[in-house]
Amino acid sequence: MSESVNSPNCAKCKPKPCYKNPEAPKPSFCPMVLYRELIELSMSMYNDEARRVHRAASLVEKEGYCVWPRLREIVEFARKLGLEKLGVAFCIGLSSEAEYVVRYLESKGFKVYSVCCKCGGVDKTRVGLREEDKLSPGSHESMCNPIVQAELLNSVGTELNVVLGLCVGHDTLFIKYSKAPVTYLAVKDRVTGHNPLAAIYANNYFKPRL
Ligand code: SF4
Repeated sequence: MSESVNSPNCAKCKPKPCYKNPEAPKPSFCPMVLYRELIELSMSMYNDEARRVHRAASLVEKEGYCVWPRLREIVEFARKLGLEKLGVAFCIGLSSEAEYVVRYLESKGFKVYSVCCKCGGVDKTRVGLREEDKLSPGSHESMCNPIVQAELLNSVGTELNVVLGLCVGHDTLFIKYSKAPVTYLAVKDRVTGHNPLAAIYANNYFKPRL
């Protein structure tokens, strides 16, 4: 492959024949042309566990297609996998939502554990931030603590962890350190009511801020 070919880059392929007609002509940067071996190798990585997870996800997609909100989908996904213990890693700014979600999941029969991002109450300076990096310099400001969130949920043996509004980047650490697989209920976007795509859909309003 030429160094100048930027692939994979599916976002720049409009027709997307991989969806329903994989034999149709594809763009030169298509990974189905340039990375055939890697695609085959990836297929061999669907071991029994990955197949089980994939099947559960696909059945949820089919059964609740355009009907079930994501909160219900998470319940059905966990049920199909036979899970009992769920974790919720939430942002303190979504505390009310977290309480609702935990009660909802409990009402569906799960044992639910939850950890707030500020758990530990550790000042931001302990993780290398300077006083002037705080939102309000000169006062105690607890760091978001995604590694603590992950380790606490690891310690009680949750089988699936649900992210509820962690900051961008803090969620990266949570996902990295969580032993259980992770799914999202909501991403944090303080400006759009936690709907990041609003910045695209209402581009006229958001363009100057993007
Ligand atoms: S056809 Fe190829 S380049 Fe286009 S979206 Fe599918 S995999 Fe990506």
